[in-house]
Amino acid sequence: MPSIDTFAANISRYLGPEQVNLVRRAYYYAEQAHDGQRRRSGEHYVTHPLAVANILAEMHMDPQSLMAAMLHDVIEDTGIPKEAIVAQFGETVADLVDGVSKLTQMDFQSKAEAQAENFQKMAMAMARDLRVILVKLADRLHNMRTLDAMPHEKRRRIARETLEIYAPIANRLGMHNTFTELEDLGFRAMHPMRSKIIGHKVRQTRGNSRDLVAKIQEALTARLIREQLPCNIEGRQKHLYSIYRKMRGKRRSFKEIMDVYAFRIVVDTVDMCYRVLGAVHNLFKPIPGRFKDYIAIPKSNGYQSLHTVLFGLQGVPIEIQIRTHEMEEMASHGIAAHWLYKAGEETVSRNTHERARRWIKGVLELQQRAGNSLEFIENVKIDLFPDEVYVFTPKGRIMELPKGSTAVDFAYAVHTDVGNRCLGCRLNRRMASLDEPLQSGQTVEIITAPGAHPSPAWLDFVVTGKARTNIRHWLKQMECSEAVEFGKRLLDKALKDVSSRLDHIPAEQITLLLAEYQLADVDTLLRDIGLGHRTAYLVARRLIKANDETSLYQDSPLAISGTEGLVVNYARCCNPIPGDSIVGRLSAGKGMVIHLDSCRNITEPHAHAGADECIPLAWARDVVGEFSVSLRVELEHQRGLIAVLASAVTDADANVEKISMDERDGRTSAVLLAISVRDRVHLARVIKQLRVIKGVQHVTRVRA
Ligand code: MN
Repeated sequence: MPSIDTFAANISRYLGPEQVNLVRRAYYYAEQAHDGQRRRSGEHYVTHPLAVANILAEMHMDPQSLMAAMLHDVIEDTGIPKEAIVAQFGETVADLVDGVSKLTQMDFQSKAEAQAENFQKMAMAMARDLRVILVKLADRLHNMRTLDAMPHEKRRRIARETLEIYAPIANRLGMHNTFTELEDLGFRAMHPMRSKIIGHKVRQTRGNSRDLVAKIQEALTARLIREQLPCNIEGRQKHLYSIYRKMRGKRRSFKEIMDVYAFRIVVDTVDMCYRVLGAVHNLFKPIPGRFKDYIAIPKSNGYQSLHTVLFGLQGVPIEIQIRTHEMEEMASHGIAAHWLYKAGEETVSRNTHERARRWIKGVLELQQRAGNSLEFIENVKIDLFPDEVYVFTPKGRIMELPKGSTAVDFAYAVHTDVGNRCLGCRLNRRMASLDEPLQSGQTVEIITAPGAHPSPAWLDFVVTGKARTNIRHWLKQMECSEAVEFGKRLLDKALKDVSSRLDHIPAEQITLLLAEYQLADVDTLLRDIGLGHRTAYLVARRLIKANDETSLYQDSPLAISGTEGLVVNYARCCNPIPGDSIVGRLSAGKGMVIHLDSCRNITEPHAHAGADECIPLAWARDVVGEFSVSLRVELEHQRGLIAVLASAVTDADANVEKISMDERDGRTSAVLLAISVRDRVHLARVIKQLRVIKGVQHVTRVRA
C-alpha cells in the first residue's frame, strides 16, 4: 500500500498541483477523523480510504471522486455530520460521501434473497451521481482484497453480496476488470476449496500447453507482420469464476472449457480490425457460426470487439478477439473510462451525469447504427437514470413503482383491498403522510382498517393507473349505492307527505312509470332521485296519480344523519354544522348540498333556483362525523399566540384544519381559524376556550 506521498506523486501525473492538494487535504481530514480506529488487520483505518482512492486513481478518476473516496467512511464511522464535509470540501464531494454511506447502510442481506437484480437496480436508483457507484465499487473491491481478516460468517455474507449485487453492477457498467476481480474474490470466499482446485488445474493446464500457445502466437504474429498489420497479440485467460459458472450452468467439463486457446489482438483502427480478421481467417480455418461482429452491433454495456473461433494446430479451437485500443479501454473500464481526467477540462465534474450521458450517448449511437437500440435502452439507460423507485414491503419483497409514487400507489400495487382499506403509512418505521413521494430503499408499511375507504383527495397525488382506476371505481360504486339509499329516503319522504308509502304502490304502477321514464329498474330511478336528476315530489305525484296540489313540505323535514356519504355535501359558503337550521338544494348529478337556511346562496333568488329544488331538512338526533366551521379571532398581536390558539382548540377536543392571518393593523390582528367540530354545543365550548385566552378580543363564526 502506497503512502500518501507516493499516492500524491502518482496522481500528479494527471492532476494539477492544486487538485493534488485538495485530495491531500481530504486524506488528512480522514486521517484525523478515523484517528484511533484500526482495521481488523491491525492497520490504521485511514489505509483503507487511501487504498480505495488509489483504485480510482488507477482509473484516472476526477479529483472529486478521489476526495470522496478518502472521506467515504467518515460520515458512517466517525459521526461527523454531512454539513461539516460540505463546509470543508463543498456540496458535491459531501453528496458523494453521503451517497456512498447510504449504500453502505443498505442491508441487502437481511431482505429476501433471489431478488438480486432488483437490488442492483435499487442501488443504482439510490445513487443520483454515478460516481457514488464507482466509489462504492472501489470500496468493495478493497474490502474484498482484504477479506481474509474477517471472521468466517461475515466473510461469506460480504462475498455473497459482492457476487449478487456489486459484481453484476460493475458488469452492467462495462467495467470488466473490476467485475472479474470482484467475482474471483467472491468465489474464493464463498467456495475456497472449489476455487483452489480450479485455480490449480488452470495453472497445470497452462503449463502443459505453454508450448502450443507459443507456437500459435508465433504463427499469428508472423502472418500479421507479413501482411503489414502492426498489432499487439496477447494470450487471454478466463477468470476462475466464469470457468466455474460454465461448468455448473452449461454442465461442461473442465477439459471442454479449458481446451480452448484464447488470444486478444489490439490494433489502431477499426479498419485494421477487419483486415486482421481476414488475415487470421486466411491462416486458420474459422469454425462456422462462431464469428460475432460486436463492432457493428455492440453489446448492451457498450462492449465492442470482433470475436471468431478458428481450427488451430492439431485441431484445437482458438478464440480470437480483435479490437482497437479505445475499445480495449472501454472493455476494461467501461463507464469509468469516461471519467478519465484530462487536464484543462474544468467542467468535468460540475455536471454530475454529463460523463454518464456521454457514455450512454456513445453507446446509443453505436446501437442505433446497428438498428438495435431497444435492448440497450432496456438494459442501461433505465438503470442509470431510473424512472422508477424501488421500495421494500415489510417482508422484504421489492416493489418497483414509477417515480413520484406514494404509499397509496404502493398499497394498490400490493392488492386492491389493501388500497381500499388504506388508512395511513409508515416509511422506514416512521409515520408519514399518504401523499409523501416514496424514495428508493425505503420500507413501506400500510396501515389498514376494516372500515377505512378511499378518499377523493387521493386522486390529487396518486401516479399509477392502477391506484387511479381503483379509487375512481370505488367512489363511483359508493356514490351509486349511497345515491340509491338517499333517493329512497327522499322518495319515501315525498310519498309520506301525500299520505302514502312506496310499498303501498301497486307493482304495475311502478312498471308503468319506469317504462315512461325509460329506466331499467327501481334502483336506477332511486339513484336518479338521490343524485338530483329527478325530483322526488314529481315522482311521488306520478306514482299516486294525485292531481290535487298537496303541498310537499307540510310535515316533518328529512333528517340528516351525517352518514349519507358522497351524495350529501356541506356547503363551503356557510359551513353548516349540527344544530344549525338547514335546507338542502338538489342539483342535477351532484346530489344534495346542505346550506344554512340563512345562507345568502339560498335566500337571494337565483334565476335558475326554483323553489322545488330546496328541501327543508333537520338534523337527526345522533349525527355522526366532524364538520368544518370557520372562526374569526381578533386579538392583540403578540408572539406565540398562534400556538396558544391552536392548543386551546385541541384542548376543547376539536381539530385545527387551517390557520391564516386575516389582517394586521398595528396592535391587533385577526386570525382565521378553520376547525372541525361535532355540533353547535361543541363549537360553543371551543369558542369559550378561545375567549378566555389573554389578548383575545372577539371570536365570531364566519358565515357567507
Ligand atoms: Mn469503506
